[in-house]
Amino acid sequence: MKITSIHTQRLKAPLKTPFVTALRRVDALEDVVVIVECDNGYRGSGEGAPTPQITGETIGSIEAAISFIAPYLIGKEIEDFDTLIHIVHHTIVKNTTAKSALEIALYDLKAQSQQMPLYRMLDGTQTAFRTDITISMAETEKMVSNALHAVSLGYDTLKIKIGSDPTKDADRIRAIHAALPQHISLRLDANQGWSAKETVALLDQLEYDGIIAECIEQPVSAEDIEGLKYIKERVTTPLLADESVFSLNDAKKLLEMEAVDYINIKLAKTGGISKALALADLCAEHNVQCMLGCMLEGPIAIAAGVHLASARANTITMLDLDAVALLASHPVQSDMRFDESNIVLSDTPGLGICLP
Ligand SMILES: [Mg+2]
Repeated sequence: MKITSIHTQRLKAPLKTPFVTALRRVDALEDVVVIVECDNGYRGSGEGAPTPQITGETIGSIEAAISFIAPYLIGKEIEDFDTLIHIVHHTIVKNTTAKSALEIALYDLKAQSQQMPLYRMLDGTQTAFRTDITISMAETEKMVSNALHAVSLGYDTLKIKIGSDPTKDADRIRAIHAALPQHISLRLDANQGWSAKETVALLDQLEYDGIIAECIEQPVSAEDIEGLKYIKERVTTPLLADESVFSLNDAKKLLEMEAVDYINIKLAKTGGISKALALADLCAEHNVQCMLGCMLEGPIAIAAGVHLASARANTITMLDLDAVALLASHPVQSDMRFDESNIVLSDTPGLGICLP
């Protein structure tokens, strides 16, 4: 099964409401879909979204990196899978979103060639999952009403985007916590917005008032590893690293320092499924559980994340794969079920999702 062509196209879809974090504001999804075709007519689909503030990639750079790698893959056999993955990772450095998009398409093809859904090819068994949903940063009242709306849609875990002014952020968290039923779990994501000392002071106050979130995600800048360790040693709320961990080496350093409680794995940071599997396995060796997160990306990339979550269900215990739920319309054909917090994998060979 020989690769005969690789091309990209852009996927655009409006969001229900703007997505706002401490780092950025996005009004519509626009990302890159890559289609890898083989001589037997099989087509693999992959996808990657530009997040310049996090991965350094733009929509144009993702397309350029894919077209740079593509000639090295054309003519190769899907059965020679390890070589394909090696080519994706060693033809160009960085460009992790572009590599992830290509890897997703290659894994889709490999699973199709084995007539298996991807999760089963990766030894997963779980097919039904629940994701949290993001509450974008806004004025407190707006965040409270958005949180209540999410709960009315059936979400029991909310990811609260904060990370502006710590005093204002504390007010936001208190107001949301007070307005919600007690069983609702809060994940706080400050997207590098605070200093280590601000984080400890803020969490001290919240914990004193009995507000203990499921986790506090990346409160300090990505490079501030010492800051993460400082926080972990001083607060009860579990600490989750996101922007600090792209590679296995990033994770190794944090795990050896015991600087965090959890790690957020994203395909766009690792460069795709192969390294995400290795990262989950490394965390498992250290008894550290993982969140599987996403960028503001479409259903193909999200599907790949869900298959991965099934493959490492013992380690990946938190899902933040809400990007499809944030879209106002569904731009692809899917055998998977996306129903707000509930995502269910299908038994279609491959990803079970593709462009029409
Ligand atoms: Mg995050």
